[in-house]
Amino acid sequence: MDDFIGDFVGNKGDLWGGKRYNALAAHLRRQFGNKIVKVGLDAGCSCPNRDGNVGTGGCLFCSPRGSGDFAGDSRAGIAEQYEEVRRRTLVKWPQARYIAYFQSYTSTYGDPARLARLMREASLLPDVVGTVLATRPDCLGDEVMEVLTNPLTTPLWLEIGLQTIHDSSLEIMNRGHDFACFLNALERLKPYNIPVCAHIVLGLPWETRGMMIETARRVALLPLQGVKIHALYIIKGSELGRIWQRRKESSSFGVDVEDGYKGGEGGDRRAGEGRDGDGRDGEEKGQVVWEDSWKLLSRQEYVELAADVLEILPAHFIIHRLTGDGRYKDVMAPTWTLAKWELLNAIDREMERRGSRQGGTTENRPLAVFC
Ligand code: SF4
Repeated sequence: MDDFIGDFVGNKGDLWGGKRYNALAAHLRRQFGNKIVKVGLDAGCSCPNRDGNVGTGGCLFCSPRGSGDFAGDSRAGIAEQYEEVRRRTLVKWPQARYIAYFQSYTSTYGDPARLARLMREASLLPDVVGTVLATRPDCLGDEVMEVLTNPLTTPLWLEIGLQTIHDSSLEIMNRGHDFACFLNALERLKPYNIPVCAHIVLGLPWETRGMMIETARRVALLPLQGVKIHALYIIKGSELGRIWQRRKESSSFGVDVEDGYKGGEGGDRRAGEGRDGDGRDGEEKGQVVWEDSWKLLSRQEYVELAADVLEILPAHFIIHRLTGDGRYKDVMAPTWTLAKWELLNAIDREMERRGSRQGGTTENRPLAVFC
């Protein structure tokens, strides 16, 4: 397990594959000496924020596929989903190894015995060297912990959704948990030595830059091994997408709704009683209304913000992602998020221009202090 947590790579760019941040791809190549491909899988899990246990509408930004839009099809089994990706990958990278990534919905939710079977099945897939489980902080009970520490399965990462440290934002997002819940999950995970990656999102339209920076600063102090950073994009079928569409159709919209902020201020199979099912929209239910003060980040704003956040995060945090990219046909705004490689290159150039690197502003700080 320790091997999978990864080495502390300090701040040497050469160890980071020439990057100015500790990217997952380079980290995995160092660890396994090979190209490692993450295979998104949909194990047919549900989510307590959709089935009524915690909530019924899901998170504001969540897609109808439980934020697993690039994962396989749950109607096929895990092995079939995996083989489909592996077959394609082998053509380009015959030596590649794989990580089984249970991406869709909340993979530790539901029957722990089922989770145990899934993890075992993933471990037995050919050329799999590890597993990543995407989950929520409130779905890590004692029985789940037992399963996660099963020595017969491949090394494990947990990817836990946090999104932001601000409870007011979590409430607007309808996350169904607060920041304290995330801290509690980390505390409970401590004895198990399971590497944890926190998922955060930059560009929530009601958050100020200061709030996003504050999230980075607090996250930097947590006992984490990785961070996954997403640029918010609005996706069809999400509640945010519905709100956005209404605003787009409204004559009062003062922004370029296709490309995001341009200046100025101004049938889910597992959804239970989901938003689609009750025929009402968020505004009618009095949940969320797009405020005129809300705005989406421009591409340049995101580039600068991502660079700021990288400078804040300590060098030993592995950066699992630096942006998010939805399916072309599904992303409503901002459309610059679709050009993933251009965006990543722009962040590289911004770090270069600054002469900075990950952890550049945190060198003298303790590496992991639980707050
Ligand atoms: S917890 Fe995850 S799967 Fe559930 S509604 Fe939120 S983003 Fe979607």
